[in-house]
Amino acid sequence: MKEQNYLDSLVGVFGHPVAENPGVVIQDAAFRALGLARWRYLTIDVEPGKLEDAIRGMKAFKMRGVNCTIPHKLGVIRHLDEMSEAAKLIGAVNTVVNTDGKLYGDNTDGKGFMQALAESGVDPKDKKIVILGAGGAARAIGVELSLAGAGCVTVVNRSKENAKGLVELLGRVAKKSAFVCWEGTFKIPADTDILINATPVGLYPDVDAMPDIEVDSILPTMFVQDVIPNPTVTALLRAAQSRGAFWSTGAGMLINQAAINIEMWTGQKPNKAIMLKALEEALSS
Ligand code: NDP
Repeated sequence: MKEQNYLDSLVGVFGHPVAENPGVVIQDAAFRALGLARWRYLTIDVEPGKLEDAIRGMKAFKMRGVNCTIPHKLGVIRHLDEMSEAAKLIGAVNTVVNTDGKLYGDNTDGKGFMQALAESGVDPKDKKIVILGAGGAARAIGVELSLAGAGCVTVVNRSKENAKGLVELLGRVAKKSAFVCWEGTFKIPADTDILINATPVGLYPDVDAMPDIEVDSILPTMFVQDVIPNPTVTALLRAAQSRGAFWSTGAGMLINQAAINIEMWTGQKPNKAIMLKALEEALSS
């Protein structure tokens, strides 16, 4: 007789707001393709101030792990037993693994970005890189690029105060780093190899918004990477295309990051093409 086992293996995401987070679409597609019929990825709205209760619930339900998104990437740290070196450097955690009640935190945003970059055939070693924005995504990306030997990482941000922490960190880990205060329309330096948008400008529903840069300063010699996963092709990437530059979408970063999470939770390598197809179908419907 077939074994009767209806116990669910739970993972998920804690965030607020979180209703538009497409993580569940990607993860469910991966679980189905792996034959992990009873794995479930739950999208859970955890309000600020409720994280401690949520972590207690996570342990009570024996959830295998969670992703943490805005506003819990920093707050989750005090609930962890252990953290990866990258997460310590970045100072934020987006992935938690629960092993018998012991919580391990990592930051897979930067790693997902690096894998997406490699899949585009771009090696950041000794390259001149401009990052627009200095928030959580910029921090994860800036640290991983620096650890991979980037030549110079320039952070462009409106608020000098908000960028201070990242600029100090890159001063310690990058070969060379710089800060530019983003006042008015920014002209991308002509010797830039890689331009990264790590701001939410262009994110759904504001899909025609464009970071305030001089479009004509994007050159065919540049590689333009957006972090925005929805829409996949942003106004910035359309501009990069029209200027003859190579470009890649934030969906690649998201898929790679989710694939790393799945491997951490289940020990199995998911099919990234199936995950990307599920994301594209969900976003186009
Ligand atoms: P944060 O809120 O931590 O940081 C936002 C950054 O963007 C700040 O530096 C802020 O500048 C800047 N910014 C915001 N609005 C504007 C604007 N109108 N013009 C110029 N700069 C602006 O957000 P995150 O870093 O966590 O997320 C940023 C984006 O990255 C989001 O769209 C998110 O969806 C995406 N993301 C994608 C991932 C993926 O896997 N593809 C993973 C993680 C994030 P200031 O300090 O001046 O306010």
